[in-house]
Amino acid sequence: MMLIREAKLKNGTDKQYSAIEEAIRTAQFVRNKAIRYWMDNEGVSKVDLYALCKELAKEFSFAKQLNSAARQASVERAWNSISSFFARCKAGAKKKGYPKFKKHARSVEYKVSGWKLSSDCMNIVFTDGFGIGSLSLFCNSETREDLHRLKINRIRIVRRADGYYAQFCFDTTRVEEGVYTGNVVGLDLGLKYFTKDQNDNAVIYPQFLRKSELRLKKASRRLSKKFVKGAKPQSKNYHKARKRLGKIHLKIQRQRKDWAIKQARCVVASNDAVVYEDLTIANMVKNHHLAKSISDASWYQFTQWLEYYGKIWSKAVVAVPPTYTSQDCSNCGHRAKKSLSTRTHSCASCGIEICRDTNAALNILKKGMKILGMEWQNNSTFGQKESASKEEKHEEKTTATIRTLEWQVDFDES
Ligand SMILES: [Zn+2]
Repeated sequence: MMLIREAKLKNGTDKQYSAIEEAIRTAQFVRNKAIRYWMDNEGVSKVDLYALCKELAKEFSFAKQLNSAARQASVERAWNSISSFFARCKAGAKKKGYPKFKKHARSVEYKVSGWKLSSDCMNIVFTDGFGIGSLSLFCNSETREDLHRLKINRIRIVRRADGYYAQFCFDTTRVEEGVYTGNVVGLDLGLKYFTKDQNDNAVIYPQFLRKSELRLKKASRRLSKKFVKGAKPQSKNYHKARKRLGKIHLKIQRQRKDWAIKQARCVVASNDAVVYEDLTIANMVKNHHLAKSISDASWYQFTQWLEYYGKIWSKAVVAVPPTYTSQDCSNCGHRAKKSLSTRTHSCASCGIEICRDTNAALNILKKGMKILGMEWQNNSTFGQKESASKEEKHEEKTTATIRTLEWQVDFDES
């Protein structure tokens, strides 16, 4: 498993930071050239792209400045988007995602060469032809420890709204002992709640995130007001507003992620089996009511972290198809159509009356238990107990080491 840590790159001069920009632009250039080559030629393989790498270094002096392994990493990123395009075609996906040229790349990736850590791991020197030179690493103590302890596979320099960061990718296997509680949980994604489980426990989307989202909306409205069509360059005020928006965006991204991680960790820590609805975003966006709550509540992100904690604590995390989960009666199985506005489930067949979301959660849980081959009864003693202390123990070990997903997502995106 990969482990990702991050440190801010500080104490550089303007010249150093613009050298980083140059490296990023060059990586983008190499990647785009690889895509172009693939478009223009038939049957291009990864090996062909590596050969192209060498050609580019001969032809363009600035391409030669980029560390050779970093050049390779750039064509690998191109190859990733090509091969995932093929995979999607093969799977018959509606959105094929034809590889595109990048215009605003934000990162450059190095493998095991082109950089060197100082012996105290407080500084890093980038040694390729751009003259980025030495920069200070600002990070927490866990990251510092891992820099000393673990082998670094790759380093990526990433530009964010508030500066430049180094992402370290370590190779490590990470399985921890899970604390088993004897509980199982089924989670329904609702309009009113973020999640609701079979015991009527609801998690509500936090107010602070709603507030941040509001601020984001305002800032983007302000930006579009300052945009003058056809003007080149845009006004100073426009760019100021653009940068402000970027910072708000970054902040809310972090807030959302932290919150999703916290929720997921809590759920998996206090249950041995977690069942949730497998709602692909594409499916949901058709229904605009739900679409809002989906994007708002970062359901997808949350489920990704559920899977992650399931893996490291060896617990069962199961996604089940969402068909009929809100229509079927969890007590007798009677199926009746419901509109979105019907908030209670009252069964015409057996007479049970419970909250709509709780009923759905029960159905989801049953489906999941079937998949796992476990028996589960309504009147069982399973219930979600508080397990804050257990959770804290996990927390200490894990908070800083859970960027694996992020790295993979970044990989696909580029
Ligand atoms: Zn019924």
